[in-house]
Amino acid sequence: MSVVDRQEWDVVVIGAGGAGLRAAIEARERGARTAVVCKSLFGKAHTVMAEGGIAAAMGNVNSGDGWQVHFRDTLRGGKFLNQWRMAELHAKEAPDRVWELETWGALFDRTADGRISQRNFGGHEYPRLAHVGDRTGLELIRTLQQKIVALQQQDKAETGEYESRLKVFQECTVTRVLKDGDRVSGVFGYERESGRFLVLEAPSVVVATGGIGKSFKVTSNSWEYTGDGHALALLAGAPLLNMEFVQFHPTGMVWPPSVKGILVTESVRGDGGVLRNSEGKRFMFDYIPDVFKEKYAESEDEGDRWYEDPDHHRRPPELLPRDEVARAINSEVKAGRGSPHGGVFLDVSTRMPAEVIRRRLPSMYHQFKELADVDITAEAMEVGPTCHYVMGGIAVDSDTAAARGVPGLYAAGEVAGGMHGSNRLGGNSLSDLLVFGRRAGRHAAEHAAEQTAGRPAVDDAQVDAAAAEALRPFSAEGPGADPETAAARAPENPYTLHQELQQTMNDLVGIIRREGEMEQALERLSDLRVRAARAGVEGHRQFNPGWHLALDLRNMLLVSECVARAALERTESRGGHTREDHPAMERRWRHVNLLCALADRDPADPAPGQITLTREDTQPIRPDLLALFEKEELVKYLAEEELYE
Ligand code: FAD
Repeated sequence: MSVVDRQEWDVVVIGAGGAGLRAAIEARERGARTAVVCKSLFGKAHTVMAEGGIAAAMGNVNSGDGWQVHFRDTLRGGKFLNQWRMAELHAKEAPDRVWELETWGALFDRTADGRISQRNFGGHEYPRLAHVGDRTGLELIRTLQQKIVALQQQDKAETGEYESRLKVFQECTVTRVLKDGDRVSGVFGYERESGRFLVLEAPSVVVATGGIGKSFKVTSNSWEYTGDGHALALLAGAPLLNMEFVQFHPTGMVWPPSVKGILVTESVRGDGGVLRNSEGKRFMFDYIPDVFKEKYAESEDEGDRWYEDPDHHRRPPELLPRDEVARAINSEVKAGRGSPHGGVFLDVSTRMPAEVIRRRLPSMYHQFKELADVDITAEAMEVGPTCHYVMGGIAVDSDTAAARGVPGLYAAGEVAGGMHGSNRLGGNSLSDLLVFGRRAGRHAAEHAAEQTAGRPAVDDAQVDAAAAEALRPFSAEGPGADPETAAARAPENPYTLHQELQQTMNDLVGIIRREGEMEQALERLSDLRVRAARAGVEGHRQFNPGWHLALDLRNMLLVSECVARAALERTESRGGHTREDHPAMERRWRHVNLLCALADRDPADPAPGQITLTREDTQPIRPDLLALFEKEELVKYLAEEELYE
């Protein structure tokens, strides 16, 4: 068996986005020898694409802001299904994480009096997003990378080697978490360029692999988002939480087809952009739900005045949380009031001078100019919903980021569930990465240091099995001699399977869901799973994208089944889960979490489905946190018994 490299580390971090890098820095600073593994080139993680900013209640632009207000906004955005302790820690710690970034060299945009500038975003009561134009993720990753290099330079000075305590394995994909009994013992993966295998032994593994968007046809997500971490956790025995909640960002590009789904940042609306239908109407005023009625402007005039004087006016409904805006756009298009290419119009050109647009939204200006030949300083953009973010994820302990049920496994960032409830507010991801990346790194390092009775051992049989699994696409069964069975046994093309999966999820488990369609989706997923077991590739292991995709399919199929099963189970509409057949948000569902686990079944078993689903009660919200809300507001969300308590 061709394991090329077998190394011992204290902590292995899977993923080099914001969460992974922050975890790695923390683990290394706490004395753990730390390896970071990432699928793409170092610095190319999906975080780099983040545009609008990092949400943190620093109160730089409006001193009324504070952690309590941020906490309230986050729970409202998540429709009170958030793991409240995570939302509390996040709101309290986010400002420190932003200031820390600044001390590490991040250059944020400034206010006139020299403080870190903060901008408006949907669902945030005050301007709260620290930003660098519309390229905030790039600055975040650049700063964290710079910090990693600084630590490596320190290590060189002390040990003579740059990578003695902190090493990055770039362009490597992890396919399995290895275990010794219940405990984590390391990871198995392959180098994408050479195809060689790799085993990193470690008592602590932090999963920070991001999201699942590539299971959907129209998405803002990059090629890396194939749900690997979600699947790795499931396969290692850790459950996934509330996977039905998938965020469809209201504004993705809709034209030309080759760029459909690419994100149009919410900053466009935060800075004054408005949504109009084909009749020129600002339709969002017709879509303010009851739970938000008191907080949003009733007229265009009132909404416009809010930009100048937010303390005395209510915000425009273009800045409702994303789930509300996405559904509204969907309804307008369905009612025949859409734009020529099936979206609606988003206009900044009539709202700001051209030079301000180019300064505040440079990426958007270039994106539309270069990809769609649209000058956003002179004409409206066409936009529509795009699959953007997954709120569901690995079930973790709020304080330690420990994955449930698997000692030594941790999760942070988009791959972890709970923090955002049923819907994430814009800007709350970048702060989540930093707050919980740091916590995961710290507890992973502590766990590794606690293994004084002996480190968990890597089981060679598991390594052999992982290698065999990875090699299977090269020996997928070809056509047999019998023409009757030949078609059924022919290897499947991984690209075709991927397209069919994306179409299935888009059409049947997308932004608006119906029982019959989700049942149909589960049948198709089951069929795809059987066919994916025969996904075959030609050529060899040196950089072979077809092979990589064949391996990613296992993960996307697992995760998609979780989404479809949980979405079928939750018979209400809440946040990023909209049921046409159950359109109301129901108080009796407020305290229900849905957990997906891997069914105890032979993978070759053709039985429909490989996931079991269980219900669990959420933890009651701590009384002092509930006291931050008015009773009249709580009545809209909480069940009678919760209110009584
Ligand atoms: P990523 O940054 O995606 O990192 C995942 C890492 O895991 C990568 O290094 C990848 O290579 C690695 N990986 C994955 N699978 C494997 C594997 N099997 N083996 C090894 N490595 C693996 N949020 C905000 O808060 N504010 C914004 O302004 C904002 N703007 C956005 C704009 C766009 C266009 C998009 C798409 C998202 C935006 N978001 C924003 C969301 C936010 O960017 C993401 O949720 C966040 O960056 C996720 O970070 P992460 O560290 O969890 O994962």
